[in-house]
Amino acid sequence: MDKALTGMAPAEIAGACSFREAFRGRQVYHWLARGATDFDAMSDIAKAERERLKARIPRIYSSTVAQELEDEDGSLKLQIRLKDGAAVECVLLEDIEGRKTACLSSQVGCPMGCAFCKTGSLGFLRNLGSDEIIEQFHFLGARKGEISNVVFMGMGEPLLNLEEVRKAIAILLDPEAIGLSRRKITISTSGIVPGIRDLAAKGPQVRLAVSLTSAIPGTRSDLMPVNKSYGLEELKAALIEYQEATGERITLEAALMGGANSGADSARALVEWARGLHVQVNVIPWNKVPGLPFSEPSRDELEAYLRILEDSGIEASRRMRRGRGVMGACGQLGDTLKAQEPGA
Ligand code: SAH
Ligand code: SF4
Repeated sequence: MDKALTGMAPAEIAGACSFREAFRGRQVYHWLARGATDFDAMSDIAKAERERLKARIPRIYSSTVAQELEDEDGSLKLQIRLKDGAAVECVLLEDIEGRKTACLSSQVGCPMGCAFCKTGSLGFLRNLGSDEIIEQFHFLGARKGEISNVVFMGMGEPLLNLEEVRKAIAILLDPEAIGLSRRKITISTSGIVPGIRDLAAKGPQVRLAVSLTSAIPGTRSDLMPVNKSYGLEELKAALIEYQEATGERITLEAALMGGANSGADSARALVEWARGLHVQVNVIPWNKVPGLPFSEPSRDELEAYLRILEDSGIEASRRMRRGRGVMGACGQLGDTLKAQEPGA
């Protein structure tokens, strides 16, 4: 499947447009980064040349917005229809300081099968291309204004699609394109050890979040099958390697399900496991997914959990619960998608 211009580097654009002069590729790249969706907007390209481009490339974008859902808290969830008929969702979350965070998907569905996650229950169809990733960013920006942060916390496991995620991040980071700082971009992984090692060795050096969920091996394996392939010790070794290579602090995410992994024993296990790592912990009270056999943790459980972390000197915060009114919060993406079949 051909990639759309939106996900290409300038030289690739020059090739796809068969420009004789290389700088023309950069020109189109600039316009796309500023959100242009057709060649007519590219006013510094001569009219005849624009006509040639329109005939050669009738559609700049590969995907379209199929549905928009806005929550009372201002969060916006978009359902994106892809060129093969499959669909993904992405979300724009705005906090009280006005920071706008785009939560992007990296795959159609997800192969990891975490027991508590809506996306995991859909199964996996395919990886997204860098064009399909960047288009989510532009669709959200076009509706909500300038985006300040990007998190790869939508549908899918970004470290199983690292090459396309890398290409998209290169466009997000490039000062001549979107120009976000590397600290404003976060990759969240379920704990794919080879991917973490690859990131440590080759970058990009953006922020890394790891969905630990539980540091008790049996509990983690029950909730996240990935633990059977990459166990807690192996994961920790990879994170130590990552920290040695980058000097960066890692975020651990702990989605807490009442009674399953929210007790004091779980909090203490996390503290033990995290010894020797430089981390902060983001606690996410479970967001409801109809049909999944979990419940939200009680307020007391949540507070006790956070207190154990803080008393042991680990910085911990509670993730804001935005986007829940449109099933756009963590782990809820996919409810507007009936089946992950092309043409569905
Ligand atoms: N696949 C990647 C990124 C997407 S999931 C990963 O797993 O890290 C983003 C975050 O949402 C993860 O930390 C995951 O543990 C959490 N999550 C999944 N389902 C959830 C739910 N129903 N409620 C709260 N958090 C959930
Ligand atoms: Fe996939 Fe992340 Fe959901 Fe697990 S939590 S199924 S890795 S999207």
